[in-house]
Amino acid sequence: MVSREISESTPLASEGSDTPLTSHPVVGTPTRTYAPVLEPGTEDLAPDEVRVTILGSGDPFVRPAQASASVLIEVGNAERDLFFFDLGSGALKNFDGLRLPVTATTKVFLTHLHADHVGDMPTLLFSLAKAGRRDPVEVWGPASSDPALGTAAYVKHLLAAHAWDHESLCGHPGQSGAGAIATEVPYDRTATVYERGGVTISSFPVLHIQNGSVGYRLDYAGRSVVFSGDTLPCRTLVEAAQGVDLLVHETFPTVEVYARKAGVPPAFAEKIVNGVHTSPLMAGTVFARSGARMSVMWHLSVDHETAGSAFREMRTRYDGPVTIAQDLTVFNLTPEAVVTRQAQVDPTAWPVLGPTHISGPPMHPLHEPPAWWADARLTD
Ligand SMILES: [Zn+2]
Ligand SMILES: [Zn+2]
Repeated sequence: MVSREISESTPLASEGSDTPLTSHPVVGTPTRTYAPVLEPGTEDLAPDEVRVTILGSGDPFVRPAQASASVLIEVGNAERDLFFFDLGSGALKNFDGLRLPVTATTKVFLTHLHADHVGDMPTLLFSLAKAGRRDPVEVWGPASSDPALGTAAYVKHLLAAHAWDHESLCGHPGQSGAGAIATEVPYDRTATVYERGGVTISSFPVLHIQNGSVGYRLDYAGRSVVFSGDTLPCRTLVEAAQGVDLLVHETFPTVEVYARKAGVPPAFAEKIVNGVHTSPLMAGTVFARSGARMSVMWHLSVDHETAGSAFREMRTRYDGPVTIAQDLTVFNLTPEAVVTRQAQVDPTAWPVLGPTHISGPPMHPLHEPPAWWADARLTD
């Protein structure tokens, strides 16, 4: 294995680099050839392969370089299922560049209901229905000790808040896709929450501020991925992540760098980094105790200062393969290897429809225009 370290001088994707921030671009010995950069639409998944793409690598402050929290997992089953894990603001902008079918955007697993993990939900539910999805979206997410704070309540109110959009779709064949079905997963114990098409997904409780935060593990064809969501370092996650192929774990900047960049006193930075989230140091501990083939520092605001210092601090606890996630970092998981690359997307791509098994409701006449439009409309 060729290894390299990340420092303050390592080029970033936001500067045009197409090299991922990883210590080990290849772990193992792949039996197929991978292009140095993933060009969407050019690589089929093998039946035993899993591809994980970071759609949103950033923090709550969505910026041109980084969308907020979101991870996409594709599996090589006959259905070519894809799964969103969290869907923060800007995530679907990156998804659209991947040339994957809109008709497959029907499964979302939410770790918790912080806005940086759900900001693109209205776009998924309503705008991708206009782009051609005919099935409603199934949304899994944590229950809470207070039902008003659970995922079912969130989805119900999200739909209610977008009643105007839904009503406007009267006559549009996408109206059947502009909906959501919520399934709550336990907030206080590990549970199997999805078993279809050879894919098993389990949830496990994590420690993030209050009841109602979980992480997920996906298993398919012998491959496995664990996604932490937001959490303090915790035993439940380490147990779920034993020997997985890919562990995507939240990591904040070091306390010192966070205090300086956020302009807050060190004591406050300490509260955020070590009281609510996971420091690079503790990410190193979690990686060492989990033993994943590839461990990923994710949810880090990536610039030269944060990436270099976070990587160095993590390295005091763990010396295995580690990647710092950027938007569109891609991991191909096979029995033989874990390959880490960046995807290069067409920034002007239109949505790709994909096969659909529902023809949509019959087109009924659009709404009668309000009477006062007759005076207001320009027609030539
Ligand atoms: Zn959070
Ligand atoms: Zn977050």
